[in-house]
Amino acid sequence: MDYSQQDITYIPGVGPKRAALLGQELGIRTVDDLLRHFPYKYVDRSRFYYLHEITPDMPHIQVRGRILRFNKQGEGRNQRLTATFTDGHSSIELVWFKGLRYIEDKLRTGTEYVVFGKPSRFNGYYNIVHPEVEEAATFASSGSAGLQPFYNTTEKMKNAYLNSKALQKIIFNALQAVPRSDWPETLPTDLLAQYALPGLKDALQHVHFPPNAQVLNAARQRMKFEELFYIQLDILQQTSWRNRHVRGFVFAHIGHYFNTFYKEYLPFELTGAQKRVLREIRADVDSGRQMNRLLQGDVGSGKTLVALMAMLMAVDNGYQAAMMAPTEILATQHYESLSRMTDGLGVRIALLKGSTRPKEREVLHEQLRNGELHILIGTHALIEDTVQFHNLGLIIVDEQHRFGVEQRARLWKKNDTPPHVLVMTATPIPRTLAMTLYGDLSVSVIDELPPGRKPVHTYHYFENKRQALNGFLAKQIEAGRQVYIVYPLIQESEKMDLRNLEEGYQYMLDTFPQYKISMVHGKMKPAEKDLQMQRFAAGETQIMVATTVIEVGVNVPNASVMVIENAERFGLSQLHQLRGRVGRGAEQSYCILLTGYKLASDTRRRIDIMTRTNDGFEIAEADLRLRGPGDLDGTAQSGLPFELKIADLAQDGRLLEIARQAAMTLLEADPTLQQPAHAMLAARLRKMRNKAFNWSAIS
Ligand code: ADP
Ligand code: MG
Repeated sequence: MDYSQQDITYIPGVGPKRAALLGQELGIRTVDDLLRHFPYKYVDRSRFYYLHEITPDMPHIQVRGRILRFNKQGEGRNQRLTATFTDGHSSIELVWFKGLRYIEDKLRTGTEYVVFGKPSRFNGYYNIVHPEVEEAATFASSGSAGLQPFYNTTEKMKNAYLNSKALQKIIFNALQAVPRSDWPETLPTDLLAQYALPGLKDALQHVHFPPNAQVLNAARQRMKFEELFYIQLDILQQTSWRNRHVRGFVFAHIGHYFNTFYKEYLPFELTGAQKRVLREIRADVDSGRQMNRLLQGDVGSGKTLVALMAMLMAVDNGYQAAMMAPTEILATQHYESLSRMTDGLGVRIALLKGSTRPKEREVLHEQLRNGELHILIGTHALIEDTVQFHNLGLIIVDEQHRFGVEQRARLWKKNDTPPHVLVMTATPIPRTLAMTLYGDLSVSVIDELPPGRKPVHTYHYFENKRQALNGFLAKQIEAGRQVYIVYPLIQESEKMDLRNLEEGYQYMLDTFPQYKISMVHGKMKPAEKDLQMQRFAAGETQIMVATTVIEVGVNVPNASVMVIENAERFGLSQLHQLRGRVGRGAEQSYCILLTGYKLASDTRRRIDIMTRTNDGFEIAEADLRLRGPGDLDGTAQSGLPFELKIADLAQDGRLLEIARQAAMTLLEADPTLQQPAHAMLAARLRKMRNKAFNWSAIS
């Protein structure tokens, strides 16, 4: 029988109430779920201190001794219990504010205890508030000695006394209750041997109760490997399935639109990288398979043009194409620049926005259905809208590195045959993350900027340089350039941020009465935003005060200065994106990072990287290292097929590559996991997919 799938209710110390709570709060329902709730840290509890060794900066201490006396003070809710605790030489106080009755019941004077907790100093005397207390006699066998695991819990759990310590006990009981033979291995034995990984039962035992650091490390490696291995198995299996079953549209020839555009309309020579990427795309769309390609190219590398030319390939072969942008500003800008570039060519391009009137929308829908329209540009509304295409052959997703499985599945609903997909991003995705998020995507890189571009010069100024900065801005504007001033806008303190922005706008008005100033932020009506952007793009205003709504894609080549206010509040990739708004013309451009005087150490590092390099890939790697993948643009994790519980993409890149290789080798030998030795893999993968919802089934 498979013990791991048993309900946790029956584990000693759980019961129906706690089982319900664990299910609700952490999604823990089976023994397997429980044992895969891994500790987030470990504290060394092999060491005992003497009380006289305590210093106030110790995060935790562990001492052995006896309680001399109890003392209860206060009334009702304000009651507190203190115990004078001694190790025979000196004494400290143990303090409780909650659960007094339980403590009074449990603890006795005279018994030897092991006490663990964070010491603090009060009135010249050390105390520990809500310490962990265990009888010394049973301490060694209770699983508490050695490296103590710490588990994430929630507020609700803590209120029900289900804290980290209680979880540890439950996990201890669960492990005790399992006969070794009832514990199914979740990795093929030959893989375990090949990579010298411990078996599952040992690994789980040691992840939760490590006898020493070395064994713990081996156990963690094994659990991480397993996690990454299954993700790769999932991705690679779906790719291979798609390659075998999904046909793609064939764009067999290059025709009138592409050729005419290339020969007569192109305002400049394509860069070598652009040409190479176009050839890669051309090979994909001619292959009979569906293209799933990620196009990475640093800001300003000319991705839009590649997108346009790929769309012309679709149109030449009688298909429609769509282009999706993350914001309305950007969609509008794409629409305008593509319309301008193709003016007279005869391709029919339309823009669909959230604010498009119902009447216009109806006409648009009709023209899409009957095939009159060739190219549709819009925001995500494109795939959410009731839009039906006559024959959508290609979809381009611009500046969106979280275009995951879910959205792709939604696209497929628009057609019987899935359209070719080209995802473009300027935020280079570090290799490890790309492998996990987009394991099934081919990757193209534009690694060359159009000629004549000068790298942006980046400087870090403190507030005291503002006068000098104003002088510099005036000089640039006098020379005919334009300037962005960007303010942070983050959800939690939107009101305050908006005030900052408006004050900043007022400050610019006061400082530069001779210039015209635009302002754009997320709370504005789309039409107003568009108008402000257009005025700036047309050169009618010299200064653009904005939030990060202008972060991606906006292209005003004449703008040469990007000032980022409160730069400490931006992430690295955001800073890099913002900087990419300048340096798009032939003039030397500048990026000024303004910060307060006090900087946290990783803020310092972010600023240093920005002033040191313009290389998007280097910045993306640094970002991954500094922030960890879970945090990449907030929800990068949500693009993963399964949640990572123990592996860390920032740190486990090497392991990810090994796991990927192992999954590849295994699938080459057994693509559908039909061999008896792989039955367990197939079953587990099925279970995981069901839990995560099987989007691939929608095709
Ligand atoms: P991104 O890759 O950031 O989306 P864009 O596509 O917006 O970059 O291109 C940035 C600018 O470079 C645009 O003004 C575009 O017209 C110009 N551009 C693109 N390709 C070339 C080229 N081969 N030579 C010169 N300028 C180019
Ligand atoms: Mg772009």
